[in-house]
Amino acid sequence: MPEKLSFELSREGRIGYSLPESNLQEPDIEKLVPGRFIRKTRARLPELSEIETIRHFIALSVMNHHVDKAFYPLGSCTMKYNPKINEDISRLPGFANVHPKCEDNLAQGALKLMHELSNYLSEISGMAATTLQPAAGAHGELTGLMMIRAYHENQGNTRKTILIPDSAHGTNPASVTISGYEAIEIKSNADGLVDLDDLKAHLNEDTAALMLTNPNTLGFFEIQSKAISELIHKTGALLYMDGANLNALLGIVRPGDLGFDVLHFNLHKTFSTPHGGGGPGSGPVGVSSKLIDFLPNPEITLHDGLFKLSNTHPKSVGKVATFYGNFAVFVKAYSYIRMLGSEGLSQVSQNAIINANYLLSQLKESFDFPYSTPAMHEFVLSGTRQREKGVKTMDIAKRLLDFGFHAPTTYFPLIVREAIMVEPTETEAKQTLDSFIEALKRIAREVDEEPDIVRSAPTATPVSRLDDVKAAKLSDYRFSF
Ligand SMILES: *Cc1c(COP(=O)(O)O)cnc(C)c1O
Repeated sequence: MPEKLSFELSREGRIGYSLPESNLQEPDIEKLVPGRFIRKTRARLPELSEIETIRHFIALSVMNHHVDKAFYPLGSCTMKYNPKINEDISRLPGFANVHPKCEDNLAQGALKLMHELSNYLSEISGMAATTLQPAAGAHGELTGLMMIRAYHENQGNTRKTILIPDSAHGTNPASVTISGYEAIEIKSNADGLVDLDDLKAHLNEDTAALMLTNPNTLGFFEIQSKAISELIHKTGALLYMDGANLNALLGIVRPGDLGFDVLHFNLHKTFSTPHGGGGPGSGPVGVSSKLIDFLPNPEITLHDGLFKLSNTHPKSVGKVATFYGNFAVFVKAYSYIRMLGSEGLSQVSQNAIINANYLLSQLKESFDFPYSTPAMHEFVLSGTRQREKGVKTMDIAKRLLDFGFHAPTTYFPLIVREAIMVEPTETEAKQTLDSFIEALKRIAREVDEEPDIVRSAPTATPVSRLDDVKAAKLSDYRFSF
């Protein structure tokens, strides 16, 4: 039964809490607020008791899926569980109440935290310097591309194209287009890695950079990174790394050591900010020494024991965020890194890789796995076999909801037919992975024995299968009250 709207639950006169009658004289509201701002009619707000309000919102919260409720193996998105302690720390009054316009000398703690976080990220990634300003991964991509453009223009050449493998996330070509470059697609080879011949065929004096995701969206580590780095740099182009999948590399390999010139982090994927509801996120960008001059201003510097926001970069691309980015996300990332330390961070990636490989080893009999390349923190199965029996990957994803799991990412990356992209993340226990394996194996059997069950799923969720097109169109539907 779907939960009613709070307006439908409302009963006139019901309130959340009551205060003793005031024995002070009521001030004249007209004297406090200009008449034109005073309502003529009462606001139509729901009237509910405290317990009704709590139950209403709890009921809503469990109708939808979230990582606090159950497993969320949404490939590429890293929907891992984030320790609640980091939320608590970001809400300490000193962090939560500091005003972004506060004078530097009154915000030393906040500035120090950002300064240190930026240094930690540089150390973790092997980059020379890191800006914290961008508000998301895609914003980091745009910032990185702006720096790449500034670098080339500073050398007096206007290169025009950015090369992107066909397995890339959609934000990559979008950022390239917004930054005024042309995106050129590079094919993947049979191992799911960059096809070096195709790369060579497209690489020329017009190439500004290659944007590589590593591990890529198939979950494979790009073992040719060093060779690619040599090829790219020989032509004077730069190498960008989409670091959204960094939870597979922490403490194992540093992109800076592989020759990358720009790298964006997704703090809301790798470093303990929950996401999925549209933000806030944070997409810091690390650069190699070639690009330091072009970093966004201001940067946090330390002079005579005082942290300051300073415009240190002479050829800066400018400021890319309101104030200095999303501070609460920085606090969570900082406390996560400090709490785990370097050993803990390595363990994060080791667990992410082991969890994905355990799932893959148990599932590759029941579904097709079109590669022989070893997986990192995620992998992409193909539902081709099931499709030939009349059941789509979409049906399999919907059926998983009946077993209480969030569906994996489907139909992405585009280069795998009927793609099912699974990222278990590092935080899940073997028992959870086992029950997910059991559910998927059962669905594979159902496809053979009773495919209609799969095709008509889900049936155990608050609403059954939605009309995708209508649902997307209704997303800007608004209540009128
Ligand atoms: C999530 C993701 C992005 C985009 O990051 P946002 O923070 O959502 O803008 C880019 N590339 C890859 C590989 C991703 O997984």
